[in-house]
Amino acid sequence: MLCTFKDPRLTLAMRDAIARAGYSTPTPIQVQVIGPILEGRDLIGCAQTGTGKTAAFAIPTIELLVGADSRLAKLGGAGPRALVLAPTRELALQTAETFDMLGRAQGVKTVVLIGGESMGPQLAGLQRRPDVIIATPGRLFDHLERRSLGLGTLRIVVLDEADRMLDMGFAPQVERILRVTPLDRQTLCFSATMPTEVETLVRRHLVRPVRVDAGVIAKPVAKVTQMLYKAATQEKTPLLLRLLGEERGQTLVFTRTKHRADRVARAVGAAGHRVTRLHADRSMSQRREALDGFRSGRYRVLIATDIAARGIDVPEIAHVVNFDMPHTAEDYIHRIGRTARAEASGRATSFAAPEEHEQLRAIERHLGHPVPRN
Ligand code: AMP
Repeated sequence: MLCTFKDPRLTLAMRDAIARAGYSTPTPIQVQVIGPILEGRDLIGCAQTGTGKTAAFAIPTIELLVGADSRLAKLGGAGPRALVLAPTRELALQTAETFDMLGRAQGVKTVVLIGGESMGPQLAGLQRRPDVIIATPGRLFDHLERRSLGLGTLRIVVLDEADRMLDMGFAPQVERILRVTPLDRQTLCFSATMPTEVETLVRRHLVRPVRVDAGVIAKPVAKVTQMLYKAATQEKTPLLLRLLGEERGQTLVFTRTKHRADRVARAVGAAGHRVTRLHADRSMSQRREALDGFRSGRYRVLIATDIAARGIDVPEIAHVVNFDMPHTAEDYIHRIGRTARAEASGRATSFAAPEEHEQLRAIERHLGHPVPRN
């Protein structure tokens, strides 16, 4: 158990980096996983987003790569030593930011290999001999096929949001990627839920893993205030505009389709709000601009579809609105986990049209309680 960031198992350089990041105390998942990872154990962590899981694996990974008396530091050598696989480009980019924030001062170099971007800059990034590769499985697989990198020097592999990665159909790529990494690597797997597919992956690729559960499995972060409005489809836009007018703060709105995201964004923009959109039809540079603009506060409202919004990390999101009900309880929990991250608290409001009541009932069954009605 690493109960404070002053723990002598962390190097001074890391303690400084953590202080600069503004983290004062470890979150529960960090308390539980940093020690075993530093000891070289394989690990399966049941942790949803918003628990601090990224830093929970980034801190010990960086320590193992550069720490004063690290086993890996002595190995040195040419070639990447850590790999993080993430389901979406946004999550990969944010994970890279965490690694840069915590590892740059110690000289840790990262490269992000994600789809939707041209190969050129990624190949150039690989030439700079990165220590840590952060990738989506599809694009990493393309690089392997082109032989632009090898994974034979890896010491640590992290499978982040494993459940979502498998849901998105990445199982074959993940399997094939793992097959070309050294057998004696250390493997860390994080997942919000533990379906059979994830258990199978863990059984096949992890060696006597430590199991860590960051609180209740797949239950929304306790600090989120949830609220439900029953609203017919045509009532949803006026309701959203009313809520945006009544309160302040950054608001993330989820819609079912790209088309609806565009339509709602037009209505919100016409009502005078600073609004942007994030969905799969937007180019990588448009997505970055939207996310950066939302993060910096240039946009107050971000309208997004599920997949695109996976991994969004904006600490100040005050309010998450489910303009359309998500299809599964897991998606509901992931969406509302966008607010009340780490130490903040937040609100999550859902609009349920009559045809969405079945989805609502399934979500409430999973939560074990009804979502409070307005
Ligand atoms: P994650 O669950 O990795 O998406 O992290 C959620 C948020 O918590 C991110 O904004 C992190 O920067 C932040 N965070 C991570 N660890 C800590 C900590 N120990 N104290 C405060 N904030 C943290």
